[in-house]
Formats: sequence, structure tokens, C-alpha cells
Amino acid sequence: MAEERPILIENDAGETRAGTLRVTLFSRRERWVRALKMLALMWLLAAATLFIPVAHFVLVPGFLIAGPVTAVMRFRTGESLESASGQCPTCGKAMTVSLDPAARLPLWTYCAPTNDPIRLRYP
Ligand SMILES: [Zn+2]
Repeated sequence: MAEERPILIENDAGETRAGTLRVTLFSRRERWVRALKMLALMWLLAAATLFIPVAHFVLVPGFLIAGPVTAVMRFRTGESLESASGQCPTCGKAMTVSLDPAARLPLWTYCAPTNDPIRLRYP
């Protein structure tokens, strides 16, 4: 499920413009599915690396442990950031920046057309 939230786009001079943040929200069911997929992938890798000589002493236990650890991290992820759009307070151009899904606001990034440093934050 996608959601749009109002945010503020701020530059280092403290000027702000209104912007929109796009977020994907995961339901409880989707979080379970995402977590189990990650667990299956890690354990599949553990099984696949079982046949690599010497390296399997490290890889197999590594992937076995990484399975539940990454699955729990996935399960705790209730939302992922998609993009932020609005007007850059420095150059005045309309822009959209793609965001790291794991990122959290407030964060510093760059305006897409002219690379001005901008800060995204909730109002
Ligand atoms: Zn700009």
C-alpha cells in the first residue's frame, strides 16, 4: 500500500518548501511474507555453499545465522521510502529524488537537477 505524506524541503540557509514523500507501507501479512522469503533465501544459500570446499566452514553457519537475523529485520520494517518530490528551495526547480528504502527522515540529500544540498523533514 502506498501513502503520500507532506514534508518540508529545507536548504542550509534555512529556506523551506513544501514537498511530498512517497512511502510503501507493509501490512502484517506482507511483513511475514517478506521475512519468510528472506529466511528461505539465506537457508538456500547455506545449502548451496555446503558443497564449496573449505569456504563452507564459514559460509554455511554464516548464512544459517543470517537467515533469522535478516528475517527479523525484514519483519520489523513496516514501511519503505520510495521518493520525495517538490520544489528545491535553492534553485527553485521541481524535482524528485529517489530514496534508500531503509532511510528515515530527517535526512540530507541532493536536489536532482543541480545537486544543491537539501534536507527532508516532517513538518
Ligand atoms: Zn536545486
